[in-house]
Amino acid sequence: MTKAMMDDPRRIREENPFESMMERFDRAAQLLNLNPDLYAVMRVPNRELKVYIPVRMDSGRIEVFEGYRVQHNFARGPAKGGIRYAPDVTIDEVRALAAWMTWKCAVVNVPFGGGKGGVVCDPAQMSLGELERMTRRYAAELIDFIGPERDVPAPDMNTNEQTMAWIMDTYSMHARHTVNAVVTGKPVELGGSRGRREATGRGLLFVINEAIKKFKLSPPQTRVAVQGSGNVGGIGARLLHEAGYKVVALSDIFGGIYNPDGIDIPAALKHLQQTRSLQEFPGVKHVSNSELLEVECDVLAPCATENQIRSENAGRINCRILAEGANGPTTANADKILHNKGIFVIPDILANAGGVTVSYFEWVQNRMGYFWKEDVVNERLSDVMVASFNDVVKYAENHNVDTRTAAYMLAIDRVAYDTRMRGIYA
Ligand code: GLU
Repeated sequence: MTKAMMDDPRRIREENPFESMMERFDRAAQLLNLNPDLYAVMRVPNRELKVYIPVRMDSGRIEVFEGYRVQHNFARGPAKGGIRYAPDVTIDEVRALAAWMTWKCAVVNVPFGGGKGGVVCDPAQMSLGELERMTRRYAAELIDFIGPERDVPAPDMNTNEQTMAWIMDTYSMHARHTVNAVVTGKPVELGGSRGRREATGRGLLFVINEAIKKFKLSPPQTRVAVQGSGNVGGIGARLLHEAGYKVVALSDIFGGIYNPDGIDIPAALKHLQQTRSLQEFPGVKHVSNSELLEVECDVLAPCATENQIRSENAGRINCRILAEGANGPTTANADKILHNKGIFVIPDILANAGGVTVSYFEWVQNRMGYFWKEDVVNERLSDVMVASFNDVVKYAENHNVDTRTAAYMLAIDRVAYDTRMRGIYA
């Protein structure tokens, strides 16, 4: 990329997830003819916290990390959303992700608002002890702002069940009793929900199952390319494979593998677990992550990170259905190109909502103190995902808009209704 390209303000704008989110929000708000007062309230987050987190590193030195928690909207219930650890996480990214949580929870109609957290750090370079001390201090800094009725964090990129257990414990130590509903995505032994770990991938499978019906495809006739192999991509690929889909591509952060006849997904995931990469996996073509997005397939499922499909490569996407397992994998500028190509988009705020749906089930189970069987969780997840998919598709048809716009309109309309009914406290 040349310096001129790097400095091009359009590029900077396109790759700012908050601006991509706002562009879609504005478009949906306009189509809904959203009341200007409600627009003014809903276009901004409710609260943004920035904290500095001093951590004693293993070397004995203190390092200070910067952390955020954006509470985007509380109209429908406590803020809800993950925490990500990454060296390049920014407040704008967290802000976009928090807003997406608001719209996502509204699309699947769970009684939460949206929130998201981020800590600027490189977890790959940190020991378990350093990560624990950082997580606990971050949780302690947020203690007055999180809680089962206020804001309920969950895992996101580079955080997991262990991270949630530390946050739950830190919060509980301050409360002087165990408060398991303060986070979701906990280990099952500590009050986590059965099926939560697989929930985002399983939700993705459920909406893909619905989408292929529209194309009169059966799973064995459906070639799926999956970008990513973490909690969403890896589990999603495994579940798709088990459901009979032909998974033709998969990737990790280093690159992807491709076989038009289908990949032996359990073998690839085993290889990934053993060698920490797909690089040496035999019997497949090795491709880059951007090449993976352009392979010929029926369903493309970007399940890694933001800004993968941009105006510059959207024209080369070669699928019929785009199922967005990641948050924000497509920039707003790419939307039109995909639309003109006739690609059926299952937007992120619907496609990856399985995670937060089972987080809601986890929170409910924690408050009941009664835990459901995995079959019950999966069946209820299926009900929510299928109903929400149909709501969005029907909304798109009735209002003659694309499915992403429909999902935003549906969500914004629900949040607007609740905001109007509650009124503005002053
Ligand atoms: N981090 C996940 C997401 O982006 C899950 C959030 C949650 O369960 O609260 O949807």
